[in-house]
Amino acid sequence: MTRQFTTHSEDETRAVARALATELTAGAVLLLSGDLGAGKTAFVRGLAEGLGVDPGDVTSPTFTLVHEYRGGRLPLVHVDLYRLDRADLDDIGLDTELAEQGVTAVEWAERLSRPVRGALKIAIADAGGDRRVIEVTDH
Ligand code: ADP
Ligand code: MG
Repeated sequence: MTRQFTTHSEDETRAVARALATELTAGAVLLLSGDLGAGKTAFVRGLAEGLGVDPGDVTSPTFTLVHEYRGGRLPLVHVDLYRLDRADLDDIGLDTELAEQGVTAVEWAERLSRPVRGALKIAIADAGGDRRVIEVTDH
């Protein structure tokens, strides 16, 4: 099933993610795709808010690949594959125990060489100006 949302500001994108966060359970994986500036990191900030993690801590983990945020309803694992051409989630040093207990959000998921079973797909497209079309697809 695919749900589609159109947002007109970063705040609205965060609100979509905040609402989605309430549906998530331990082990959830979200695969975010979309160009630079589409709003993937903004979406992850909304997830953090919805999970009760301080969103101010959430930055583009461009140089670190993986950030872990604890203290919310579920821990949040934030992965950014921007610097990699191709990647496999099994090879990037994820704390698998934490990932199983929490929510994993992957930016630039189009760079994954293998699909992730059971993952939610979040595709964000720039529709001009501040408009973004967000498609949330579950299996
Ligand atoms: P990405 O992680 O996909 O590269 P970011 O979330 O870092 O993108 O940046 C998105 C940029 O677009 C921010 O500067 C944000 O303020 C701006 N923006 C404008 N409109 C929106 C919107 N509707 N949703 C999300 N971000 C938006
Ligand atoms: Mg980003």
